[in-house]
Amino acid sequence: MKTIFESSVKGRKLTLLPESDVPAADLKAAKRETPLGLPEVSENDISRHFSEMAKATHGVNDGFYPLGSCTMKYNPKVNDEAASLPGFTNIHPLQPDHTVQGCIGLMKEAEATLCEITGMDRMTFQPAAGAHGEFTGLLLIKAYHRSRHDLQRNKIIVPDSAHGTNPASAVMAGYEVINIPSQEDGCVDLEALRNVVGDDTAGLMLTNPNTVGLFDKNILEITEIVHKAGGLCYYDGANLNAVIGIVRPGDMGFDCMHINLHKTFSTPHGGGGPGAGPVGCKAFLADFLPGMLPEGDDELKLVKPEKSIGMMKAFNGNFLILVRAYAYLIMLGREGIPEIAKNAVLNANYLRVMLAGKYVMPYKETCMHEFVMSLEHEKASMDVTAMDVAKALLDYGIHPPTMYFPLIVHEALMVEPTETESKETLDSLINAFTEIYDKALEDPEYIKSAPHKTIIERPDEVSAARHPKLRYIPEDK
Ligand SMILES: *Cc1c(COP(=O)(O)O)cnc(C)c1O
Repeated sequence: MKTIFESSVKGRKLTLLPESDVPAADLKAAKRETPLGLPEVSENDISRHFSEMAKATHGVNDGFYPLGSCTMKYNPKVNDEAASLPGFTNIHPLQPDHTVQGCIGLMKEAEATLCEITGMDRMTFQPAAGAHGEFTGLLLIKAYHRSRHDLQRNKIIVPDSAHGTNPASAVMAGYEVINIPSQEDGCVDLEALRNVVGDDTAGLMLTNPNTVGLFDKNILEITEIVHKAGGLCYYDGANLNAVIGIVRPGDMGFDCMHINLHKTFSTPHGGGGPGAGPVGCKAFLADFLPGMLPEGDDELKLVKPEKSIGMMKAFNGNFLILVRAYAYLIMLGREGIPEIAKNAVLNANYLRVMLAGKYVMPYKETCMHEFVMSLEHEKASMDVTAMDVAKALLDYGIHPPTMYFPLIVHEALMVEPTETESKETLDSLINAFTEIYDKALEDPEYIKSAPHKTIIERPDEVSAARHPKLRYIPEDK
């Protein structure tokens, strides 16, 4: 496909503007010496260019997107409508509080609802993503220890199954990361945890269900071990879709956490955002929260907490994403919210059990909202890897599952169907996986050279990540 610059034809223009009926201003002093080098194309060219690009990408609106750990569910369009209402879009963050009472009221109600769901007491909406929330939560933990003059706590414990952002956020917050191994079943090794906690433990970061899709049954014991050593517990809320409305991180013993509004609460994600990663905490940490929190009953105000760690983002974060989440919450209500988790778990288990006939499931237990399969056996017997199967799925119009994560499973494919897919769609994935398996037995080369029906085949992913071409440089320059 050509870039818009390559489609450029000298002198071609977009739309013909009417003759100017005012005298031309002399802009000589401000004029560029060399032309800007914008593409010269017709309106028709532009329209076709962007339609072609849209066709070349795959989103939730195009087909099944079972990307593990990402919760790529269908997001009701009515929530976008709500977030487009002029009362929300035409405001300015510096407007006096009394002129935006409705918006502050929405923040207040969204905070109360999300705190009820998570078992937290207060919440900031400033962080722009999950990873940003992790960083914020760790700064809360740091502020807490500092406020008690407990200054030698410089270590954060992270299990080896954790999402890469966990150790990265801990390092950014100035902590040393202590990795602990997971057990056979992917759960935290209690002995290993007991061996590493001490008076240098600042805290633990954990997601539950964990990254292999299993709920850690020892969670109360885990958080107690950390608390007894004087550390705090941070909950990575990216997997909240599995337990929402059923159990609460606050009741599992966690002190602070983030939720990913762009995963669990109806903001489409991809393409770099924007997202939102609100951070909730128990009352004893609330004084350290960043930014402005809604306060008051009749006359609402935005107030900075007393010992606030400062600002994590300008103003109140990505506010319109909170509007989407709020619309979603009130649409589902107390009865609807637990249905998210129940159906997400049911869908994942249906796929897991149906695929177990052909593929190896390293964890046999009932899973939560996602499960991990291993292609280690296929790699050894027919040299077909997780990557090959993922590429072959593209020919079925299905986005591949997450690959090679978590790191504790070799040749991993991690499947998260979400609650919004029908049985027919799930069956289409089972059918695709089954056909790919049978084809691999009969003609492994066909699968190893997949995809066969897409615009491009196998791009060099390492170069694309390490040396991305983000700017068009004309050949004559
Ligand atoms: C997605 C995810 C994160 C990070 O969230 P972002 O919003 O992408 O920054 C952290 N942990 C887990 C388990 C995740 O799946």
